Amino acid sequence: MNITNIIDGKPIAAKLRGDLAKEVACLPYQPGLAAILVGDDPASQVYVRNKIKACEKVGIRSIERRIAADASNEDIARVIEPLNADPEIDGILLQLPLPKHLNSDMLVQLIAPEKDVDGLNFVNVGSLVAGHDSGMIPCTPQGAMILIKSVMENLSGMNALVIGRSLLFGKPMAHLLLQENCTVTMAHSRTRDLPEVCTRADILVAAAGVAKLVKGDWIKPGAVVIDVGINRMESGKLCGDVDFDAAQGVAGAITPVPGGVGPMTITCLLANTIRAAINRRG
Ligand code: NAP
Repeated sequence: MNITNIIDGKPIAAKLRGDLAKEVACLPYQPGLAAILVGDDPASQVYVRNKIKACEKVGIRSIERRIAADASNEDIARVIEPLNADPEIDGILLQLPLPKHLNSDMLVQLIAPEKDVDGLNFVNVGSLVAGHDSGMIPCTPQGAMILIKSVMENLSGMNALVIGRSLLFGKPMAHLLLQENCTVTMAHSRTRDLPEVCTRADILVAAAGVAKLVKGDWIKPGAVVIDVGINRMESGKLCGDVDFDAAQGVAGAITPVPGGVGPMTITCLLANTIRAAINRRG
């Protein structure tokens, strides 16, 4: 039986945030982030509040633009455009999901690529797919990669599986793993025999949004397991996409939920904002 190493995202994120604060302190200007919040979804309000607090702690100036839930696509475009032109704003994030009547795919494309700290503009998506390191990389896959590297120095030749193919996570994650010379498989809701596909993975990244989808006996002994899913159980407790208890003693290393990938996401948002500022202002 393996001893499973728990990859604790909190100290890794705290160390990175400390390094980012030092980096900001050396800049001759204060990087700026604008967060756009549409409507009054309580979860989105909490996410934006946490991002703003995290910015303050590392010395990034942040502003929040609140827009009414019944706003039109044009109303939101009118908020994005001056932020694109504002020399004091280095990063712009549009908190998703937006109310259903809005076209979030189109609105995300209005954010200037050099300020697109979520990495969703097609210019940034294209850079990642092309294997260039000039673009913005989406925060959660960037954080997940840091966690993988915290327990595995050389990923070259590893069989990596990503469950989920969203533009926000699964697709960029697969490309980051490919850049590290992994042999990458992407699974999704139409994948046949997911348990068998999982058993071949040296690195298993689960981002399906299905509570405890990955069972203990699907995991290759010694595999590095990164659990991105955030699911609320009937008891009110959070759980991931992997059966964490059953993975103990099988996986070589695993991230807990909460406390694994979650703390890395905001950390990478801060890193992207600082990088955007340095790219623009030197
Ligand atoms: P999403 O857009 O809903 O995508 C889910 C993906 O999983 C889809 O590609 C879907 O396949 C696939 N899928 C669904 N059920 C499946 C099944 N039974 N077997 C195999 N694949 C299945 O979700 P997302 O935005 O990528 O997020 C995924 C999870 O990560 C969610 O729980 C979300 O809350 C979490 N998340 C966490 C963070 C963080 O900071 N920790 C950040 C982002 C997301 P199809 O394409 O075929 O439909």
